[in-house]
Amino acid sequence: MKKLFLFFIAFNAMIANAQTDSLIGFTATSSKNEISTEQKFDANLSAENIGRNIKTLSLKPHNLGSAADKENAEYILKLYKSFGWDAKIETFKVLFPTPKTRVLEMTEPTSYKALLKEPALKEDSTSAEDGQLPTYNAFSADGDVTAELVFVNYGLPSDYEQLAKMGIDVKGKIVIAKYGRSWRGIKPKVAQEHGAIGCIIYSDPKDDGYYQGDVYPEGAFKNEYGVQRGSVMDMVIYPGDPLTPGIGATEDAKRLTQSEATNLIKIPVLPISYHDAAPLLQALDGPVAPADWRGALPFTYHVGPGKTKVHLQLAFNWNMVECNDVIATIKGSQLPDEWVVRGNHYDAWVNGAADPISGQASMLEEAKSIGNLVKNGWQPKRTLVYCSWDGEEPGLLGSTEWLETHIAELQQKAVIYINSDGNGRGFLGAGGSHALENFVQQVAEDVTDPQTKTSVYNRLMASEVVNASTNKAKQEILDGHGWKLDALGSGSDFSSFLQHAGLTTLDFGYGGEDDGGEYHSIYDSYYDFTHFKDPGFKYGVTLSQTAGRTVLRMADADILPFDFRNLYKTINSYVKELMEMAQQMKENTEMENKLLAQNDYTLAADPAKTFVAPKPKDEVPYLDFSPLQNAMDAFKKAADSLAIVWKNQMSSSANHDQLNELLYRSEQQLLTQTGLPRRGWYRHNIYAPGFYTGYGVKTLPGIREAIEQRNWAEAQQQIIVTADVVNHFATYLSQAASTK
Ligand SMILES: [Zn+2]
Repeated sequence: MKKLFLFFIAFNAMIANAQTDSLIGFTATSSKNEISTEQKFDANLSAENIGRNIKTLSLKPHNLGSAADKENAEYILKLYKSFGWDAKIETFKVLFPTPKTRVLEMTEPTSYKALLKEPALKEDSTSAEDGQLPTYNAFSADGDVTAELVFVNYGLPSDYEQLAKMGIDVKGKIVIAKYGRSWRGIKPKVAQEHGAIGCIIYSDPKDDGYYQGDVYPEGAFKNEYGVQRGSVMDMVIYPGDPLTPGIGATEDAKRLTQSEATNLIKIPVLPISYHDAAPLLQALDGPVAPADWRGALPFTYHVGPGKTKVHLQLAFNWNMVECNDVIATIKGSQLPDEWVVRGNHYDAWVNGAADPISGQASMLEEAKSIGNLVKNGWQPKRTLVYCSWDGEEPGLLGSTEWLETHIAELQQKAVIYINSDGNGRGFLGAGGSHALENFVQQVAEDVTDPQTKTSVYNRLMASEVVNASTNKAKQEILDGHGWKLDALGSGSDFSSFLQHAGLTTLDFGYGGEDDGGEYHSIYDSYYDFTHFKDPGFKYGVTLSQTAGRTVLRMADADILPFDFRNLYKTINSYVKELMEMAQQMKENTEMENKLLAQNDYTLAADPAKTFVAPKPKDEVPYLDFSPLQNAMDAFKKAADSLAIVWKNQMSSSANHDQLNELLYRSEQQLLTQTGLPRRGWYRHNIYAPGFYTGYGVKTLPGIREAIEQRNWAEAQQQIIVTADVVNHFATYLSQAASTK
């Protein structure tokens, strides 16, 4: 920490000198120019202007397909043009269901009809706007079901294992699950796999409500009526328009029928508030819920099933709607066929001041400031492409359809895709391609935290060192090994760029000090944002500085700032993790089977309660990781020699075009043609959203998920697949290292 702090003082004292020869990927002269460009870029960023755009763009509810959403697209288009960008709207046709009928009622033992409504609040003027989408889960199935109710905790596979031990089966039942611990779409999917015929998801006050802090509008947390809308499309199969997987949803695209789409849930799903959930949960009988299942409602939680029956009736308008992406470009002066792509969505579930308008307003501020640089004679070396995406909320529709339409050109030309989404007060969150780890660290060292005036890097490291759980971990951070890019799963528009097309990707956002329960509710408003998320819009500017610097440096770098030694270290840590995980599973399985054979679980259980001992598990065989370990050795050698070549080229005046192209097209070498098992749209072999976590990432997903699912043959086969990918990648890097 001390070292970092000294670096910061030195940086501040000698901003014009000490830094000039040190931007990664820049010669001393071009580095000096770049820093001067960045100072001009910063000078044109305005918190007030970001605030104005947040207010304007979040004034009306503007979900995909609404008139207000189209108005926002036109407004954004006009802004880009006024900044001097070449801008246009690119329109796709996508499937987007909105609710026609929503009924949820308890029919036995007493009756209760759910309100399914968030009330307007006098404090929050936009909460009373017309045009709000009702509370619902997009891509729920139509359905009219009545059945006994079962409480399934968070609705994860492990919760159903627990239910099985309690002798409870959800077949033919309706389940009620808490929001949290997984992406929401996983809950109905797992319920459906277990034979449930309907799924209700609610926000428990323990996770998202009064247990956390004061509720809205006095505080930021969810009040009793707040509901989290959201998509339950099975995005881990493929995101984007369900009817056009793998191709752009243009007017004349060849479409699947709805029943052919493999990412649509088959049972009705509805999100509700804790006000509506309480009577249902309170009426449940059956066993008392396990201790770690219980929430913060004022009664004893039971699991059911029993006398409690509910009726769930949902019907939707399955409309085809326009999805309008706003695409703005500034042509590069020297390398027009190398593109730096930047994106953030603008569609919201309702007003969406935080999600996504805060990020959109920061991105527009970057575009304004870059436009200003161009008006004053500066030009980027590479082409800039700024994308304001539509239709992110229902399932990454706008970004995925654009990517799928232009994939060939993007794989040829895109140097990087830089994403953001909602933004708030607090710490830098940064994820993406690990070959850019050093580069992003340097960007973070050069951006000042608006609250503490240290760099956002120092602030993040301070938080990490304080919160690290062991002294060993703390010491590692103090020794300068704390900075890590997060691996990306899903949940925002980067997904198709990284996981389908294999483009180098980064994702940025600030947060952690922006309390809130407003997510996807009518209370994600300008009032909420200015009181609880980023008062004064200071972190709006910080995000512009972070993403903007990344854009400018990638656009102007003499040699692109890739360092594959970081990628090697990261992947190697994943390999070790998987080897340990397999070993741990082996030991756990042996022990559990032994205890089962001795009848210990049954003897330890309370005989007055139902206990069904689980079946013994199949033994875990030794997996042979050696092909992958050998491939990793080859990777290390290639990454080391490329790093030397990279450094030598930095000090030579030779043309770097060939090396640059090899560098930025490297990520594509990590794809496989066939993709992941049972979900071929996901072709990246290193990062994917988890099949049973959703947004949460699974690294080395082919191997990891096979082990988790105890599919040993597939695990062994995926080790070979991954070893082939890594060997291919090593060969590719060696070729790049032979560039003259
Ligand atoms: Zn968003």
